[in-house]
Amino acid sequence: MQISPPLVLTVAGSDSGGGAGIQADLKTMLALGTHGMSVLTAVTAQNSLGVQGAWELPVEAVRAQFRSVVDDIGVQAVKTGMLASAELVEAVAGLLTGVGAPVVVDPVGVSKHGDPLLAASALDSVRTKLLPVATVATPNLDEVEQLTGVRAGREEDLRRAAEAVLGFGPRWVLIKGGHLPGETGTTADGARGEAVDLLTDGREEHWLRAPRYDNRHTHGTGCTLASAVAAELAKGAEVPEAVAAAKEYVTGAIAAGFRLGSGIGPVDHGW
Ligand code: PLP
Repeated sequence: MQISPPLVLTVAGSDSGGGAGIQADLKTMLALGTHGMSVLTAVTAQNSLGVQGAWELPVEAVRAQFRSVVDDIGVQAVKTGMLASAELVEAVAGLLTGVGAPVVVDPVGVSKHGDPLLAASALDSVRTKLLPVATVATPNLDEVEQLTGVRAGREEDLRRAAEAVLGFGPRWVLIKGGHLPGETGTTADGARGEAVDLLTDGREEHWLRAPRYDNRHTHGTGCTLASAVAAELAKGAEVPEAVAAAKEYVTGAIAAGFRLGSGIGPVDHGW
């Protein structure tokens, strides 16, 4: 008899183009040796040019998917992505309370193309209901600003950004500095400067540095990173080790990002 691989659940939206959302999550989970499962919150009509349409699922459908997975199969880590509305954010936060597994919250707000993936009216529910149940929250700098009002434009600002997010109650926060202005100087393999992130629980600080690849095909980066953290946690890693491994995974996926359609292509999971 085969032993089941570690069990990871994504609660997120579908990207019809296959680059972000649950499609990126499931590819990441498979690549990292785990069994990926999905609770779909929304369906997007999406390609390399942006989001052409988005439809959220009824709360009842989200609850039913979650119960089906948890009641029979079980989960060893959960990741949340696009949650679309205040109603869905609150329902998912309620389901995750007492799930008994680490929860990675990617507080998805707006896509790289500027398409809204979360209603403005849902921000307060993310702050007061979802972030408190997070083991790790993984905001980028735009999401930090939306959630806390703190605008971080330089590496020195990341600590202040982290403190502001920790104020809402996640156990750890990973501030993704990928949107900071890049440094100059290109290495032989095409990397330019560094992508710097800060992981902290308010006591320990872990600064993560990786080569910054000058590749515009980065669709799905955030989904991939958060899913990789969840996969590593499901395998039994502690948070700092899980995040370090996830950062390495996403750096490889960005370096291998490829052209698809006529816009922004996805990160690659087969590198
Ligand atoms: N579409 C869906 C369903 C997503 O969940 C996300 C990100 O979480 C995106 C699109 C945006 O991806 P990106 O900003 O990497 O282009």
